[in-house]
Amino acid sequence: MVLYIKNATFIDWENLEFKKTNIKVEQGLNGKIKFIDSIPDVKNRIDNNIKIIDAKEKLVTKSFGCGHHHIYSALARGMPAPIKTPENFLEILKYVWWNLDKNLDSDMIKASALCSALFCARNGVTFVIDHHSSPFSIDNSLFLIKEAFEAVGISSLLCYELSDRDGKTARDKGLVETENYLKAGNQGHVGLHASFTVQDSLLKKAVTLAKKYNTGIHVHVAEGIADQNKCLKNYNKRVIQRFKDSGMLDFSKTILSHCIHLNNDEKNILKNSNVWIAENIESNLNNNVGVTDYSKYGSNIMLGTDGMHCDMLRSAKAAFFVGQGTEKISYPEIYARFRNIHKFLSKNQYNGDGDNNLVILDYNTPTEINQDNFLGHFVFGIESSHVASVISSGKLIIEDKKLLTYNEQDILSFSKEMAHKLWKKL
Ligand SMILES: [Zn+2]
Repeated sequence: MVLYIKNATFIDWENLEFKKTNIKVEQGLNGKIKFIDSIPDVKNRIDNNIKIIDAKEKLVTKSFGCGHHHIYSALARGMPAPIKTPENFLEILKYVWWNLDKNLDSDMIKASALCSALFCARNGVTFVIDHHSSPFSIDNSLFLIKEAFEAVGISSLLCYELSDRDGKTARDKGLVETENYLKAGNQGHVGLHASFTVQDSLLKKAVTLAKKYNTGIHVHVAEGIADQNKCLKNYNKRVIQRFKDSGMLDFSKTILSHCIHLNNDEKNILKNSNVWIAENIESNLNNNVGVTDYSKYGSNIMLGTDGMHCDMLRSAKAAFFVGQGTEKISYPEIYARFRNIHKFLSKNQYNGDGDNNLVILDYNTPTEINQDNFLGHFVFGIESSHVASVISSGKLIIEDKKLLTYNEQDILSFSKEMAHKLWKKL
């Protein structure tokens, strides 16, 4: 299949240059796109190997990525209230998320991954960095998620959230799943929950594993102040110092999610390292854990959803509005954070985020849009509802808002069925 987009207004995601053009889209991982003057005339012949999309009056640009996701929370929407109303972040974990993830089975994980992939696709998100947890259904969980993502057509970088919170058996199964997944040649991190549920022996094992498979660590950092307090109490140092001493900050593939409660020394350590930070502002507001000024953390900052939803344009807008109060964030800076995932992926040579990942936006604007004012439209105008079609690694996966790779209704019926099964267990 050769894919062409005709009559496109193409926006280069890096320099925001607008170009009226036709595009030939190469198939496969890390494929390129080619701007061409005219597309082949297929009117008079039947050729099933050519697909032409007319993008007249539409915008075409690089698709989006999510820097920190949790597919495991996909079935939470509308679930029953917890037995106790949480009064702080640790109680939110205990009564909501740790109750949910402990009750997941392999079918629920599959349903969670499929519906997350579906909503990512609909929102123009073709690459997902996920952090998975299912302490009593660990075996094969990463493989299941990858399979579901691939069936829908989403590229991924996965990990299992290792922790000591559920005892030695769950911890060791997590290590085995992580190693099996990496050993099979899959793109993955070594995942850790957070400093306060990871003992030194596990931390050491995780860093050794990351070194062995040439990857990095993906971990929550100082999301709540309790993470710092427990680290100071147990190890007599702050979280970033503990993680630095472990060696995990030496990996350019390492992702530290949140990083809210850091002091200036910790911010400087991050600024002088090659690790990445994932900002998840809506989740932080929802959990009432605080917000921070990320401008002090260097430039390796990308955006995630923390599993709240699959809409990166929404995450960017939320980070922009909160960022007005915390750091007077500018249009170029919020756009850079939205797009930094592409830099993270290409610098670390991950597959699945090549130029042949595109969104076609049906964006009817009441005012002119051009290279000079694009960022104003990015912040105040362009939304996921404008995503008309999506191309992932050269393959058309959404056309006119319809998923082509998998039956949407099948995914949604399955996820509803699995959600009921899960809610009964909570
Ligand atoms: Zn998270």
